[in-house]
Amino acid sequence: MSRVVDFSGALRVADNPLWAHTQDAQSIVIVEPPRASGLMGVPNKSKARFAFELRLAEHFVARHPEVALCIGLRAETLREALVRAGAQTLVCTQPLAFDEAALLQALRNHYKVQALPSNHLFQKPFNPKSLKSFSKFKNSQKRDADEPFESGSVPNAQTEEDHARPSALYGLGYCEGSCDQDWQRYRDHHMAAYKQTRNGLLGRDFSSKLSVSLAHGLLGVRRVWADIEECQRAHGVDAGNDWLKVEILWREYFAHYGRIMGARLYGLRQIEAQNTLHWQAWTLGKTGVPLIDAAAQELMQSGYQSNRIRQNYASYAIHELGLDWRAVATHFEAHLFDYDPHSNWGNCAYIAGVNRGSAKHFDVIWQAKHYDPEGAYIRHWLGDFKNHTPWEQGESKPIVSPMTQDQFNATGLV
Ligand SMILES: Cc1cc2nc3c(=O)[nH]c(=O)nc-3n(C[C@H](O)[C@H](O)[C@H](O)COP(=O)(O)OP(=O)(O)OC[C@H]3O[C@@H](n4cnc5c(N)ncnc54)[C@H](O)[C@@H]3O)c2cc1C
Repeated sequence: MSRVVDFSGALRVADNPLWAHTQDAQSIVIVEPPRASGLMGVPNKSKARFAFELRLAEHFVARHPEVALCIGLRAETLREALVRAGAQTLVCTQPLAFDEAALLQALRNHYKVQALPSNHLFQKPFNPKSLKSFSKFKNSQKRDADEPFESGSVPNAQTEEDHARPSALYGLGYCEGSCDQDWQRYRDHHMAAYKQTRNGLLGRDFSSKLSVSLAHGLLGVRRVWADIEECQRAHGVDAGNDWLKVEILWREYFAHYGRIMGARLYGLRQIEAQNTLHWQAWTLGKTGVPLIDAAAQELMQSGYQSNRIRQNYASYAIHELGLDWRAVATHFEAHLFDYDPHSNWGNCAYIAGVNRGSAKHFDVIWQAKHYDPEGAYIRHWLGDFKNHTPWEQGESKPIVSPMTQDQFNATGLV
């Protein structure tokens, strides 16, 4: 074999440049088992996230028997695969995350590394000035998105196996065919309402649920973007399709911002030990604030949270509980099935107000009353709901009282 082709994070046929290199090659997909992150005993991924990733990879290799499934640490597994195949060249997608890029750099000392476009809209780097803020990025990027690659069409998802729907997450399925079906259904029936519904907390169709498919490369973002533009040409630009593009640009923004930040994205200092009581209350859902405790349950049980819930859950941890934003990011990393290094660490840093801009505080009581007025979300995850501030009715006080926006402004952190 002359090459090893690594399909990790690119588990699809359509819009995937790797397929052009598979002839006379050993193709592999790697799933890394959880490992200790060194932070308060938190592994870098939960057992549930690992099982989910394994399931995705197993499904992919069942469809493509020429691809071998490897379980192990990425660096070692790649080296072993190259040696076993007697290959001189590694073909993979361009990693934007700092540690992955460093690994490829190290491999370049011994092998030829061919890094193809990753699952992003714009492969060419941006001028750092245009990445100073999202609005600068959005306004300055006049480029057209890159075209999808011609690498084959989406396999249909008609077999029973495809419909097994491996995730409990709103019954969505996670192989290329079922992701594509779910996306087409969302695009045709729900995208138009996206701007009004996107702050929903519970249910399948308030948002696109594209994040898992994009994070694991089950769908190509260039194709999704082209689909939205086709829809706009056929039926016109509306608030829904326009806003969905803006959100997809956030993913792009964090990817390019993260590429420039490199290791600095993850914070330079060592993470100090956290207040154990606060940490446990936040991660286990025992803070006494119903919205936050429901959010903790959702994350642990489903591996997903809506954007609105992630913002509130992170803000309460950082601004009220005083947890280090990097510890907070590590907890999301461990549990999110759509974990994406740049989106996760970028959003957590954004809320903490590090690197650029002021801190973003979410008034969780106001947010709970506004976005979950009847307590449906809380009842769903906690099994019970009385009201958003039970301590005002004589029940125990929360571990730390949530701050209103005015109280937060008075801290001077803004
Ligand atoms: C603390 C925190 C951690 C996060 N961690 C991740 C993560 O690890 N992986 C991840 O994919 N997203 C992350 N996000 C962003 C966002 O919450 C999820 O992408 C979104 O909730 C996924 O649901 P959806 O696909 O239905 O989103 P939709 O609302 O339908 O948005 C469509 C797509 O746009 C992109 N997008 C939307 N909002 C954001 C955003 N704020 N930042 C970056 N991309 C965005 C995603 O690719 C998403 O799939 C995080 C947000 C916060 C506040």
